[in-house]
Amino acid sequence: MFQDIAPHVLYNQWEVKAPQSGDMIIYSQGEKVFMRLDGERVVLPSYGECKELGEFRFLLKLDEKGIFMLFPKNEVEMVEKLTLLGYELMDKFNFRGKAPNEIAFAASVAFHLTSFYEKNKYCGACGSAYRHSEKERALICPKCNQHLYPRINPAMIVAITDGDRILLSKYAGGYYNRYALVAGYAEIGETIEETVHREVMEETGLKVKNIRYFTSQPWPFTQSLLIGFFAELDGSPEVTLDDGELSVAEWFKREDIPKDDSTLSMTKTMIEYFRTHPEEF
Ligand SMILES: [Zn+2]
Repeated sequence: MFQDIAPHVLYNQWEVKAPQSGDMIIYSQGEKVFMRLDGERVVLPSYGECKELGEFRFLLKLDEKGIFMLFPKNEVEMVEKLTLLGYELMDKFNFRGKAPNEIAFAASVAFHLTSFYEKNKYCGACGSAYRHSEKERALICPKCNQHLYPRINPAMIVAITDGDRILLSKYAGGYYNRYALVAGYAEIGETIEETVHREVMEETGLKVKNIRYFTSQPWPFTQSLLIGFFAELDGSPEVTLDDGELSVAEWFKREDIPKDDSTLSMTKTMIEYFRTHPEEF
C-alpha cells in the first residue's frame, strides 16, 4: 500500500531542527504543492535551492533527509524562483502512484501538515495569530492559550461479502471512476463499527454482520486515517442505491472481479485479498 515504503523509514517525531542543503522543502497552497514531475518521478525542491526564500520549520524525516515547510518572506519572489527551477504548483493527488514511492508518501504526509498550518493561522476562539509550540507539534494561541493539534479524520472502508461474492461500487460525481468499496467518515458519538453499519445502510440499503478488522491506512490527501473492514451480508442482497453517493453497486463473483494489480490503495488491496483468499470467506 501507499505507506509501505520499507526499507525506508518515515520518522514523524516532532523536533526543532535546522535544514541542511540536501533536505526537501514543501510549500502548499490550498490543494496544490510545489513539485516537479520527471515522467513518473516526483521531485520536491531542496533546501539548497530555497534557502534565501524564507524561513523553515521541520516537519518529518525520511531516512536521514529532513522535510521542511517553507514560510516565504515574499510570495511573488518565491513563486518566480521555484518556477525558474522547473517546479510547479500541482494538485496534491499527483503524489499518488509516483516514484520513488517513499518520497511520494513522505511528501503527501508533509502536505497533511502544511495544509493544517496553512488553514489554521488564527485562533478560532479569540482571533489572535497562532504561534508554533516549541515543545510539541501544536499551535498555541498567545492570548487565550488554546492548543491546536493536527487533525486526523477517521473513516472506514468496508468490503461486503456474501459467500464467494463481493459488493463493488462506483462513486457518484467524483473524479474516481473505478470500482471501489463502501466508505465513509465516522460521525460524532459513534464507534467505527457503527459507522460501518450506518454507511452500508445509507449507501446500499444492506445489513451486515460479523464485521472483521482488516488493516488501516493513513490517507494524507484528505487528512484521514482509513480503517478497513470485511463484513458479511446479513439478509437480503437486494441493493437500494443512494444515488447521491454511489452510481453503481453490483455483486461480483470472485472469478469475475475486474482485474487491477495496483495495490497502492487499501480498497484495491482488500478486493485483491478477497480474490486470493477464498478459504477465509
Ligand atoms: Zn485565542
